[in-house]
Amino acid sequence: MKQLFIDCGGTYLRSELLTPQGSHRDILPSASIGLWSFIEEAMEKHSDIGFIGVSYAGQVDEGVILASPNLDHEAPFPIAQKVKARYGIELRIDNDLQCALLAESAYWESDTCALLFVGTGLGAAVMDRGHVVRGSRNMAFELGHIPYAPTPLVCGCGRTNCLELWVSGSGMEKWLHHYGKNHHPNLQQLKHANDPKERAIAKGFEEGLLHAVGTLVSVSNPKLLILGGGVIDHNPYLIPYIRETIAHYALKPTLESLRIQHSVLTNAPLEGAKLLSRGKR
Ligand SMILES: [Zn+2]
Repeated sequence: MKQLFIDCGGTYLRSELLTPQGSHRDILPSASIGLWSFIEEAMEKHSDIGFIGVSYAGQVDEGVILASPNLDHEAPFPIAQKVKARYGIELRIDNDLQCALLAESAYWESDTCALLFVGTGLGAAVMDRGHVVRGSRNMAFELGHIPYAPTPLVCGCGRTNCLELWVSGSGMEKWLHHYGKNHHPNLQQLKHANDPKERAIAKGFEEGLLHAVGTLVSVSNPKLLILGGGVIDHNPYLIPYIRETIAHYALKPTLESLRIQHSVLTNAPLEGAKLLSRGKR
């Protein structure tokens, strides 16, 4: 039996097809194909796929895609039910950050940990003594959408004061657009730009990131904080900077036994999607 694993992110759709002979990985821009079309194409090519695991950059609960601020998709969308009805196989889906948390916690052998990823969006997930903290609709720790500071911008969720507008690739891009600039946001370039407005975007990002980390650590009290995502990966100065300054942003006792580490898995959400097949949640 073949198994298909998908990481449907804000920028890329990554997949891995596991067969008895080995595995085949693929990567496509998310804008080029929707998740449902991707599954239809895969099932046409490989009718013997017996399980699908999906890590999804959006809100999902019990097999239903509820909302996806960073992706164009019809919601609510009962994807597990649709796959079962059409192909007779099981699909399990979870939020990408929660999938990443499952994979990283297994790697670090830590059962009380938090994860914060900064890429296209800003997201977090928390595991407390072996249990992923989910809330009533699997939306616990949607850190990107906590109210932070007013902006002239509009978040994917419709509000104008979300933390994600300050601390994310898409947020920095929106600020640049607001100032009439269309170049791709690069934190290092913004930090050293001649234009004070661009430097202010970088400053706003760093300050917002410290607030995000301090808030997450203070409210979830993890033993291990794992940081990752494209913006963290491309700016190696950020993790030492956070370690040096976090004392000003988090409750002191929560820092006493805290370790802060960079995500080590090449694609933690996809690795987490694989764990869904083993009933991890
Ligand atoms: Zn928002």
